[in-house]
Amino acid sequence: MTVTVRFAPSPTGHIHIGNSRTALFNWLFARRSGGRFVLRFDDTDTERSREDFARSIEADLAWLGITPDRIERQSQRVALYDAAAHRLRDAGLLYPCYETADELERRRARARALGRPPVYDRAALKLGEAQRAALEAEGRRPHWRFLLPNHDGDPFAPHRTEVVWDDLCRGAQAVDLASLSDPVLVREDGSYLYTLPSVVDDIDMAISHVIRGEDHVANTAVQIAILRALGAATPAFAHHNLLTTADGEGLSKRKGALSIGSLREAGLEPMAVASLAVLTGTSHAVEPVADLDALAEMLDLGAVSRSAAKFDPADLIGLNARLVHALSYEAVSDRLSALGVGGGAAFWEAVRENCEKVADAVRWWTVVAGPVEPAIDAADRDYITAARALLPVEPWDEATWTAWTDAVKTETGRKGRALFLPLRKAVTGLDHGPDMKALLPLIGRRNTSDRLA
Ligand code: GLU
Repeated sequence: MTVTVRFAPSPTGHIHIGNSRTALFNWLFARRSGGRFVLRFDDTDTERSREDFARSIEADLAWLGITPDRIERQSQRVALYDAAAHRLRDAGLLYPCYETADELERRRARARALGRPPVYDRAALKLGEAQRAALEAEGRRPHWRFLLPNHDGDPFAPHRTEVVWDDLCRGAQAVDLASLSDPVLVREDGSYLYTLPSVVDDIDMAISHVIRGEDHVANTAVQIAILRALGAATPAFAHHNLLTTADGEGLSKRKGALSIGSLREAGLEPMAVASLAVLTGTSHAVEPVADLDALAEMLDLGAVSRSAAKFDPADLIGLNARLVHALSYEAVSDRLSALGVGGGAAFWEAVRENCEKVADAVRWWTVVAGPVEPAIDAADRDYITAARALLPVEPWDEATWTAWTDAVKTETGRKGRALFLPLRKAVTGLDHGPDMKALLPLIGRRNTSDRLA
């Protein structure tokens, strides 16, 4: 079997780190199985879906390293959904209903008051042709419900009917179809809700594994029933826990919270975001992983925790820093050039451990190339002048700092912090920073001498 997965966002906003968890689970799963990844835009809600959101989702996925094998838009596939709706209608499994939202709400309230589950009572199934015509003459348009297979021929006598599946994340699942209302598949204006198009596309695109958030578990029972009604095989299902912030608050596409775009703009590495998005709420410790292939090796759907995947956004910085410390010069040279940072590999290797983000290199480049405002305490003025006179002759290399400070020590009798710190502050303007052994040859004799003057 060829593994084919899909990530199916509605382009109604920018994707956030929680959405990227779903996208990455699918991508990594496909990657590990040599499978295919479909990006499917669920854009049947034409009022809220926007092309610019679809583009931004594609760009955000590309930044994470996800390049779909196929991209589809549901808005361009309506003929397929019409055909499936016809088949269901012909089979008596899709029936017209005329209740308004208010009427339905009143009925649900009544059911609750009587201590009954607020499940739709299928009243519309009792309407005869003449009654339907009368309702339509009043100007009512039908919405269409799928008749759930929870009865033995008499839909008014539903009984417990379990849909079961072996969830790759959650293990054995059972949902009683008698506990659910017949789902509305088609709105009054003829447009489709998410439920049917998703099933039709999963069949048409030969999706083998549906990997999505656990907020879709109840949908799965309904969708399995629709798959069967359409005579299709059932794919494997995996419902992963959802990412929430430490206070348990969910992420929302509309709030823009922790959007992938904002994390990118904040200068985070895609692998810091991907490592956190994938490893939180699994049996693995959350650690920086160098690339998606290594992360794919770590993905184990069966080891995903059942409780919420809580994370602290502040952890992203720490993960990012650990990744940056290990980045080779080759991996960052283009970005450094774009930032106007010179100094080649020697510079990057000298400063990377002092960078939380690659862009922090700019600050250290200024320390090397200037301008630097030397920080010389009045009490150290004579000491610095004496040290300046002892600067070694060029060429300078990694041994120069030690040679110079040894000479200064001998001349002035200072040692330890009193020896080193005033020199660091005078040369770099800062009381902390990368190893002076590596920094000094990059700064060079002329700059150093000027800063000590
Ligand atoms: N558009 C749905 C969502 O974003 C897709 C769910 C699914 O993967 O089937 O929640």
